[in-house]
Amino acid sequence: MERDEIKRLNFLLQIYIDVNVDKDFSVLSKSADPFFILNMDGQLVYVNDVCETLLGFSIPELLQMRLSRIFLSTSLNESQTFFFEKGREKLTNFDAKISMRPESLMDVNVTAFPILFNKDVVGSYVVLKDITQIKKERQLLSEKQAVAGQLAAGIAHEIRNPITAIKGFLHLMARDYHGEPMYYDIVESEVARIEVILKELMVLATPIKKKYEKLTISSLLDQVLALMESQMLLNNIQVDKKFSFLEESILGDGNQLKQVFINYIKNAIEAMPNGGSILIEGSITEEKHAQIRIIDQGCGIPPDMINRINEPFYTTKEYGTGLGMPVSYQIIEEHKGKIDITSSNKGTCIEVSLPTFYKIK
Ligand code: ADP
Ligand code: MG
Repeated sequence: MERDEIKRLNFLLQIYIDVNVDKDFSVLSKSADPFFILNMDGQLVYVNDVCETLLGFSIPELLQMRLSRIFLSTSLNESQTFFFEKGREKLTNFDAKISMRPESLMDVNVTAFPILFNKDVVGSYVVLKDITQIKKERQLLSEKQAVAGQLAAGIAHEIRNPITAIKGFLHLMARDYHGEPMYYDIVESEVARIEVILKELMVLATPIKKKYEKLTISSLLDQVLALMESQMLLNNIQVDKKFSFLEESILGDGNQLKQVFINYIKNAIEAMPNGGSILIEGSITEEKHAQIRIIDQGCGIPPDMINRINEPFYTTKEYGTGLGMPVSYQIIEEHKGKIDITSSNKGTCIEVSLPTFYKIK
């Protein structure tokens, strides 16, 4: 941008600030969130009071600063005047690190949005939120989960061998067994249940060798639905399928990804004990992600539970393991995907998005 053009924009920005922000009655200057205004040069031209406390510099000091003094260069663009790869013309939100006084780093969440004067973008509002505490809690939780996972995997390994022996001998005994058939069936099905739990526990903790291959998303989902068909019939569940993808594929471990969708669909079925319908939506986003939604009309997940849902062993079911959600979460994370859960007492929507794999023709 030319010098004269920057001068003109800076002049407009100053008028904007004088009229809209820098007034005692302005809602903005009294904002409880720390925010500053940035001109097109990357210079701080307005700073609210709360910034002093957060950043440890006085307002006059801050007004001498450029964006590059506060943010690490890794989060800035080439000319150090704005954030890395984030257009000034639209709202952006991301996590970053800032350096403040005394020389230390702080984790913040940054929201930046443009200031428009007539049709020109003349600067940006930058709102900061201290997320040090949240980050610490997240880290602590993941450490706790890792320990719980390791412990669980260790136990699972130990139990697997005796269970295999029990299962084998039980099989041998079947021929000579003349007792109540139901008792035998119960023992057999409970042993099978223990095996299912052990399998889930081991996924949670051991980085088993994954087989990554190219998978067509729609056929992967069709296979899952075929597997679940009898269980849905049994529970009076109707499935509606709305896919708008064609032959797009993803790179992943087919068995693991199937397990993820089985877990989510199973939960959806279990959330509707009196039957109902499940909608499976699939589409490709603009960012070329495959987006799959599993929507049920069940009891929903209470808001305070959503945050804890990926913790191992969290369950509200009498015979639940509390492992379906954390196992699925881990698998999707390993596939560089994302999970978004929305829920109310009318039902739950689990949205999984996974990067697609494009074959170069
Ligand atoms: P489990 O199904 O064995 O309880 P999960 O990890 O699969 O373990 O799920 C944990 C808990 O999350 C469930 O017990 C349930 O309370 C809640 N949950 C998960 N999915 C749903 C859903 N679709 N609707 C309502 N509650 C759900
Ligand atoms: Mg489950």
